Amino acid sequence: MEYIEVLGAYGGKGCGKNTTCFRIAQNIVIDAGNIIAPLKENAAAIEHIFLTHCHLDHVIDIAFLIDAFYAIKTKPLNIYGLKDTIASLKEHILNWKIWPDFSELDLLDKSDKSIMFYEINYADKFDIGGIQIEPFATCHTVASCGYKITKNAQATMITSDTGVCESLLEEIKNTKNLKNLVIECSFPSKFKKLALDSMHLTPALLEEELGKLDKIDFNIFINHLKPFYESEIISEIKGIDILHNAVVLEDGSKIEY
Ligand SMILES: [Zn+2]
Ligand SMILES: [Zn+2]
Repeated sequence: MEYIEVLGAYGGKGCGKNTTCFRIAQNIVIDAGNIIAPLKENAAAIEHIFLTHCHLDHVIDIAFLIDAFYAIKTKPLNIYGLKDTIASLKEHILNWKIWPDFSELDLLDKSDKSIMFYEINYADKFDIGGIQIEPFATCHTVASCGYKITKNAQATMITSDTGVCESLLEEIKNTKNLKNLVIECSFPSKFKKLALDSMHLTPALLEEELGKLDKIDFNIFINHLKPFYESEIISEIKGIDILHNAVVLEDGSKIEY
């Protein structure tokens, strides 16, 4: 794939919109907010899921993906996340109460487990099929990371959920080959307090944060809008100079590597 496919662009469900998921290769997704519905039977090809954090809008389709294809899988579904992310997933969702813990279930006729969990650290670097995937820290209410995806020597940063975050700005500054920045904008600016409390961004906060950079020589893509405020957030974004050329992502959008 010469592009990243946005399977779910939003920070909530509603108005026909779906939650966060980026397909970065035929078999790799960042977050699992929406896999089954857009990919249908092709969802069986997903082998690697890199999670940014444990919130429901980013993990929900793990449960349905493994359930749908369990009987035909010959290899484990590999799930990568920070230690806290994996622990929360196992404690609160794949806990045999809300859903079975597939990491304890063997694949049919195999000794491999159907899900393998991998705890990752910020310094890790993965290379899968010629794509480099590197986690970096973001600032959210739970342990969270974004991912730097490098292909053809150019980088795309998917920041995932974040509030005001100094280390993220440093990461952007230090990424000399940055081509695309995907950054969130969850609420309209009138909800500044809610955004600060829940560690998200608004158009005004995003303007303030990106304004701290010396230069912006990369494409800006905005995601994770709360669907019911989409038009309000978009009209605010259109009025902000620094975001003038930003693209607001929708389900099905594509980001060229
Ligand atoms: Zn979210
Ligand atoms: Zn979140």
